[in-house]
Amino acid sequence: MRVKILGVAAGGGFPQWNCGCLNCRRLRQGVFSGRARTQAQVAISSDNRNWYLLNASPDLRAQIEASPALHPGDGVRHSPIKGIVLTSGEIDQVIGLLLLREFQPLRVYATASVRRILVEDNSMFGALRRAAKQVEWTDVAPGGAGFDLTSVDGENSGLHCESFALPGSYPGFVGSERTAKSDPAEAVQGLIVEEANGGGRLAYMPAVALVEEGCLERLERCDTLLFDGTFWTDDELVRVHGGGRTAREMGHLPVSGPGGVLERLGQLRRPRKIFLHVNNTNPMLDEDSPEYRCAREAGWEVPHDGLELEL
Ligand SMILES: [Zn+2]
Repeated sequence: MRVKILGVAAGGGFPQWNCGCLNCRRLRQGVFSGRARTQAQVAISSDNRNWYLLNASPDLRAQIEASPALHPGDGVRHSPIKGIVLTSGEIDQVIGLLLLREFQPLRVYATASVRRILVEDNSMFGALRRAAKQVEWTDVAPGGAGFDLTSVDGENSGLHCESFALPGSYPGFVGSERTAKSDPAEAVQGLIVEEANGGGRLAYMPAVALVEEGCLERLERCDTLLFDGTFWTDDELVRVHGGGRTAREMGHLPVSGPGGVLERLGQLRRPRKIFLHVNNTNPMLDEDSPEYRCAREAGWEVPHDGLELEL
């Protein structure tokens, strides 16, 4: 399986347009030890010909242009992108769908609840169903046997996904009536992707509020983790903004501290561990910082946009 990490940052990107935190300011001044990053986006393929996106970021257009494998092939209308798997309804994970609205046949996998939020409650997503064979939605049941990624034309990608419910809530823009009608288990998913012919196993978990015991066993069976690296500390945004919600209240286990990602996943031996969805305030983005060193010494990678993996 080929895995392209097209974007690493959490919502807002790095730097974020309205952010003057130490990281964003120093990056703009050209004195930051680290690089800018676009919003989290991953693409996967088993044959380097047909590609599937894991979520759809607001930076998707530029991310596609930066990746020749995702450019059109023959003909005036073509894309090697055959489908998208959504793991939540968060704006920075779905808004890229609207950038793919140019009458391209695509299959979108999501839980029924996330599909209803987008398609039934947000009329702009009607732009994706203006023609027959444009976007076909396939409902995903968390915790089920999983599903093969298959194009609208019926071509099997050779990639199999298992989705499982993670603790978490629906995005803030979702109305209380819709939330009340929706299954809490369908709000936030984690994914395990593997090649049908026995290649490597990838865990994709950009939003993790809590690591349960069963989850650790699942992760130990994987070869590579792309895991929530949003915040270094629980009170990171509270300190930057002087108020607001903690990392845990926002559905993100902090990287450091008691019960944080480094501690909870410290016992994993098998998988390569890579942070994804890193917020612009996170001090581990600064490659001269003690936090960056701490993450690296704990065996984690803080990748740049464009990292490619072969599993
Ligand atoms: Zn910032």
